[in-house]
Formats: sequence, C-alpha cells, structure tokens
Amino acid sequence: MTKETPMMKQYKEIKAQYTDAFLFFRLGDFYELFFEDAINAARELEITLTKRGKGEDATPMCGVPHHSASNYISQLIEKGYKVAICEQTEDPAMVKGIVKREVVQLITPGTVMEGGALTEKQNNYFVSLTEADGQIVVVAVDMTTGEVRVTKVNETDALNEISSYRAREIVLASELSEAFLQQIKERVSATFSIEENETALEEAETVASSLQDDACKRGIYRAIHYVKRTTKRALDHLQEATYYEPRQFLLMDVHSKRNLELVETVREKKKAGSLLSVLDKTETSMGARLLKQWIERPAISVQEIKDRQELVSAFIDGFFERVEVRELLRGVYDLERLSGRISFGNVNGRDLLQLKNSLLQVPKIVENVRALNTSFGEKLVQSMEDMSPVVALLEESIKEDCPISITEGDLIKDGYNSTLDDYRHVMQNGKSWIAELEQKERQETGIKTLKVGFNKVFGYYIEVTKANVRLLPEGRYERKQTLTNAERYVTPELKEREVLILEAEEKSEKLEHTLFLEIREQVKSYIQQLQLVAKRISTIDCLQSFAEVAEQHNYVEPTFTEDRSLQLKESRHPVVEQVIDAGDYVANDIELRDDRQMLLITGPNMAGKSTYMRQVALTSIMAQIGSFVPATEARLPIFDQIFTRIGAADDLASGQSTFMVEMLETKQAVLHATDRSLLLLDEIGRGTSTYDGMALAQAIMEYIHDEIGAKTLFSTHYHELTALSETLPKLWNVHVSAKEENDSIVFLHKVVEGAADRSYGIYVAELAELPYGLITRAKSILQTLESERDREPQAEPEQLTLFALEDPMTKTKQEVLDEVSKANILTMTPLQVMELVDKWQRKLS
Ligand code: ADP
Repeated sequence: MTKETPMMKQYKEIKAQYTDAFLFFRLGDFYELFFEDAINAARELEITLTKRGKGEDATPMCGVPHHSASNYISQLIEKGYKVAICEQTEDPAMVKGIVKREVVQLITPGTVMEGGALTEKQNNYFVSLTEADGQIVVVAVDMTTGEVRVTKVNETDALNEISSYRAREIVLASELSEAFLQQIKERVSATFSIEENETALEEAETVASSLQDDACKRGIYRAIHYVKRTTKRALDHLQEATYYEPRQFLLMDVHSKRNLELVETVREKKKAGSLLSVLDKTETSMGARLLKQWIERPAISVQEIKDRQELVSAFIDGFFERVEVRELLRGVYDLERLSGRISFGNVNGRDLLQLKNSLLQVPKIVENVRALNTSFGEKLVQSMEDMSPVVALLEESIKEDCPISITEGDLIKDGYNSTLDDYRHVMQNGKSWIAELEQKERQETGIKTLKVGFNKVFGYYIEVTKANVRLLPEGRYERKQTLTNAERYVTPELKEREVLILEAEEKSEKLEHTLFLEIREQVKSYIQQLQLVAKRISTIDCLQSFAEVAEQHNYVEPTFTEDRSLQLKESRHPVVEQVIDAGDYVANDIELRDDRQMLLITGPNMAGKSTYMRQVALTSIMAQIGSFVPATEARLPIFDQIFTRIGAADDLASGQSTFMVEMLETKQAVLHATDRSLLLLDEIGRGTSTYDGMALAQAIMEYIHDEIGAKTLFSTHYHELTALSETLPKLWNVHVSAKEENDSIVFLHKVVEGAADRSYGIYVAELAELPYGLITRAKSILQTLESERDREPQAEPEQLTLFALEDPMTKTKQEVLDEVSKANILTMTPLQVMELVDKWQRKLS
C-alpha cells in the first residue's frame, strides 16, 4: 500500500467532521470530491467520475470548476443534501508544503440563502425541535427573510406545525423521544440535522428578547447555534422571534388544509386550481409569501380582520389609487430576502441599485395609501420608517450601470471619494496621453494604420503592420513582439505611463471594493427598518390583491356574527366557478344556526355535494384572512377550527388503508372540535360495509349533535340516514336536486331543503357508460329488491332500529359501562370498590 499523501490526510480529517454532507474540497480552481462523495455526486450531478492515483489505491474522485460550483451546489441542496464548502485559507504561493483548508460554510436545504433551491413566492423554513417537560418547542426560521417564529405545544400539535411550515429541514436534539421522531419521519420528508447545543449565546439575545419562557429560549438558542455553526456568517438580519399559540389562528390540521386545496391541489401539487391561485394578484414576492402565510393561518381576531377589510374596501372604491399602487409595487424588489443577503454579505452593486429603486417607490406607495383615508392604512404607512438616508447614500455612491462583480471596479460614482477620483484622473490622463501619442506617431511616421494597443501580457504597445515597418526610422522604437502581419514596439515613455495607469487601475479597483463593502455595512445598519418596510409593503400588496380579486369576481364584504350563525346568499365555490364556463355555476344559499347546527346533504354522486361543503369552508377561510367572499350576502361566525374529512385515495401512498385514514381524520374532528368549529364530513363510513358504515355515520352524527355542537355539513349517499332528523332536532336535511329526463338524470346543482327522495347510483353508472347489459341487469335487481322490501314490511323495523334508538348511548354512559366490565374486583379492597362506584355515580349524575 502506498503511503497516504498529507493532502489526503487533511481531507479525511475534515471529512470526518462532515459525514452527512458532500465535502467540496478546494484544490486550485476546482472543488474536488472523493470516495463515496465522488461516487454519489457523479450520479446526482451527472458528472464524470475519475480516479486519483493508480491501481488498487486509486481514489474515486470528481470535481467541479469553482466558478460554476454554485449551480451544482444548488442542485444538491434542491435534492435535500447538505454541502460543506472547504476552502484554502492560506495563499498557496506564500506557504511551503500543504495549504491550510477549512470548511467555511455548510449549506443545507433549510439554511440556504440563494440559488435554485429557493422559490420566490415561498418561504424556506427550517424547524428546530426542543423537548420541554413533555411538550415540544417548535422554532421555525426562514434564513432568507430573517423571520423567526416559536411556539410550545404537545407532540400532535408539533407534528401539525412542522407540516404547516413545509419545513425542508428539521433540526433535532437527541433528547426527543424515539416514538415522536418516528412519527415525524413518517409524516414529513425533510433533511434531518442534529444540534445539541442549547446554551445561551449573545447573537441570539435580540432574537429571544421578547420571550419569557425558558424552554422557548432554549429552543431559539438551539436554532441559532445551528445556523451559526453551518453558515459561519453574521446573522444580523434574524428578527425578534414572534411567540404564537396555534390557537391564535383558525386551526386546521394538515389533512384539512390539503383536502381543501388551499395552496396546492391534492393530486398534482400545483398552485393552479388552489384557493391561493384565485386570491393571488400580488405584485411582489414578499406579498405572495405573506398571502400564503395568511391562508395557512387565518385570523380569529375580528379586529384584525376588520382592519384588513377596511383597506380592501378602500382599494375597491379607490380604483386609481389601486392601479397606481399595483404599478409601484411592480418596481419593488424582494426587500426581505435582500436584507438577509445584505447581512450575509452576498449582495453586489446591482442588488443595491435594486434596493435603491425599490425604496424610491415607497414614498409614492405611502402617498397613495394615505389618499384612501383609512385608519388601518394610516397605521401601516405611519410605521414605515423614512428610508431616504439609504436612498441618498446609494444615489451618490453606486453607478447606475455597474457590473455584477464587486472586485473589478466601475462600481462607484465619480465624486463619492476623492482618492478614487484622483486615481481615475491619473487613468484618464494616461489614456488620453496614449490617444494623443497614437495621433502624434501617425503624423510623424506617416503610417496611418499605426495604433496603440494593450494586452495583459505585454501591456501597452505600438503596432505597425509589416508592410509599413520600412517607413519607421531606425531606432525610433524598441521591438517587443513579432506577429505574422505586424510588429509591436514600446518606448520608455510609453512604459512609464503604463506603470502609472496600471497602478492607478489596481489601486482604484481595490479602493472601490473597500468602498463598496463600507457602503454595504452602512446599509446593513438599516436592516431592521428595511424589514419593517418590507412587512408593511407585503400587507399592502395582499390587501390590494384582495380588492383586485373582489372586483374581478364580484365578491362581497362579509360581516361577522356573535351568535355563531352563518348565512350565505348565492354563495359560490371560488375555484370551481373559475374553471367552468362563465355563468354556469349554480349559486346556493346556506344557513346554519345553533338550532340548525348540522346539515345532512343527500343527492346523487356528482350532484355537487362536496363542492357545496367546500365552498362553505373556503368562504369562511377567505373571510377570516380579510378577503371578500363569493356570495351576494355573507354573515359568518369566527370559526376557531375547521376539520374536513373529504375525498380519499390520496393517502394510499402513505401505506394506511383509506378507511383507517378516514377514521383517523374523523377522530381529530371529534376529539378537538368545539361549538365554534366547522366540520365537513363527506361520505363518512363509505369505506366499510353498508351496515357498518351507516352505523358509524349515525353514531358520529349523534356524537357531534349531542356532545360537540360544532357546525357540521355531512354528506352521504346513505339515503336512509335522512330519517335521523326526526331524533336529532338540530339536524336538518337538504339535498342537491337532480331531475330525470328521458330515463337519464340531469344535475341541477341546486341545494334545496328536505331529503332527496331516492338514490341515483344506477343513473350515474349509466352516465359513466357502463355496458348496457350490465345497467339493465342492475335495474332489474333494484326492482326485485325494492319489491321484496315492500312485500316484507318486517324487514323495515329491523333496519330502522339502527336509527331509532330512543336514547342514544352517550359517551359518558359508554365509558362507565366499559369501566364496569373491566373492573377487577378480586384485586381491590372494599374501600377501592366503593370509591369506584362513587366515581361512576358522579359521572352519570
Ligand atoms: P358530489 O360530491 O355530489 O359527488 P361534486 O361536488 O364532486 O359532487 O361535484 C361534481 C361536479 O359538479 C364538480 O366537479 C363541478 O364541476 C360540478 N358542480 C358542482 N357544484 C356545482 C354548481 N353549484 N354549479 C355548477 N357546477 C357544479
């Protein structure tokens, strides 16, 4: 075996500290990867795998040029990998032997600051989890915007939070329970990282400053230790953490959000076809991100909602202001992410120009919002700090057409710095001297094609074509280089000038770079104000978007009820009405009150039952984010939670049976719903046999009716369930009407009071064009069944017992009975038995 080179030894030492990342090891102009990293990277990036060394000891290797590395890094990050960037931290020319190398940054999916892994209109959160006496502190950080959110919840809610952030990376502590970790890994696909350190640290003090709770502070420290360790950069842009309780918002679990297709469709995971796509007429990516956050977490504070409505309404009336604001917003760059990059030291001259141009729009936006004369608008713009010092600084310092590079000069305006002006003067003088020299030499030699040129190797030279060389007086110039067609010369004077020019050029490039970094630092001191402006602008953007949508689609401003009643007139489904032909959507009314708490919706398949149910939920969500709603009149309660059990099939992939998923979702609803919640239960019990299913459906309805009191829409094709309205006074029947025409069925999509008079399964089968013979056979079987039922009336009561239980068993009674049958009196003392009986009696009283 050959001896390991010192470089390989260095490589292995560094790699040992970054086992879960691709190590990009800087060698000259390349980043090289070795061993497993090389094999995997070659596969993932489709680059050539080579070898270093010979024979058995050859090491698998692949490499990417350092100037195009960012593209490869982005690709790996997008795929959920981590990349450790290892640089040479000494100048190779200055050291003997091996150069020092160090990992300067660990880029991970949750901490990445730029590149293809980021989507403009989406936040990029990582979540860190910390154990706190049986509860979990969830910290969510978006490194690109500096947003930090924290909450302390139980494990189930923690899972919900993780999903709602769509975290790409989860930072764990090893103290978390195995079972909990297992659940996370089943539920979310993310990159996992470990951070054990949760000790207080200075950089986190501002972030954690508003927090009282020690566990939450520990959570923040852990998150910040992690970003510090990975990014190894300044974290000035991290904002003060916002503590929230999930219950401060309208709660929806992951299933419900997904089922309702709030931000993406279930099947294709596309934005088009989601509620977000209808509401999003924002003009900035910050606005788009905020809108998405609102939809994921609608408000429950009436005041907050009314504030937003006030401005939406003003934007609708103030057409000219809205048009103007939309136009101005188009000129506003992503200030939030820009602040992040400024603090990270990742901005160039063009970014700063974009910052300046964006800030130039702000006073005009403020002016237009002011003109709308609303108290909320006034509040918003009042807190927009005056950013004119930043604008002035950038105005006088950064050149309008500056290049992307920040090290090659041409960045800083004349007049900003006198030393720089001096250098430029020397350069300009030198250059005009050279131009004059060209003129002079042409005249004196009579060679019209004589020219003065420059290249990096020889510097300035005088070039004369071969044909003209004979015209040159002997000894006029010193020969420097011979080309095929020309000779190049220099003179001592020319070389002198050259030194001056090149020196000035080098010095001015360096100085420009230094000045640029200074300017960047100065801008950095405004980060907090910038972030505030960014927030206000995003809010204004979302609200103008609501106004735009409301006007385009004829929405109405909802009002909020205090008696928990809901009344929608001519309500429509915001998304479906967009996809069907204009005017074809059949609007429907709906009314719910405490004495009309549940609607049992019957009607044939495809009649529009689930569309009707969803439109109620979507309308409520729209109302609670401050948007107007698709109806002609809308009065709504503020819901605390929305649960849905709609559709199926989408969970097959997770390996759970559809029926199990149905029951798990139902469990969430019955366990957590309150009398201020909205439940949508679509075809509950469908996934099992008929009686089983009907029995469950009935029991669930009774439970919600008696124990919870949540507003509930329950659709079913079990026509028999409609009889329940006789025993459940707050349950009302409605049905989606359909009419038969020439032995086939036409859906009217109109929801009317009362139960449907029959099922239409066979007609739907006919519509689906099942074979003719099969349909006729089904019809004849149905006829036989119906006539048998009519002939044997005793069959009816048997079936009815299912629905006619006089006194439906309440949950408490059932629990007591369970305990009675489970109690093992042989192992109890008489006193314990007495205590138990006493407990039962109290429960039943
Ligand atoms: P169900 O739940 O009763 O099986 P859906 O709610 O899925 O039926 O509706 C089936 C289709 O009918 C929808 O995809 C939609 O195109 C159309 N539809 C539903 N409601 C309406 C309506 N109110 N107006 C017009 N078309 C509707």
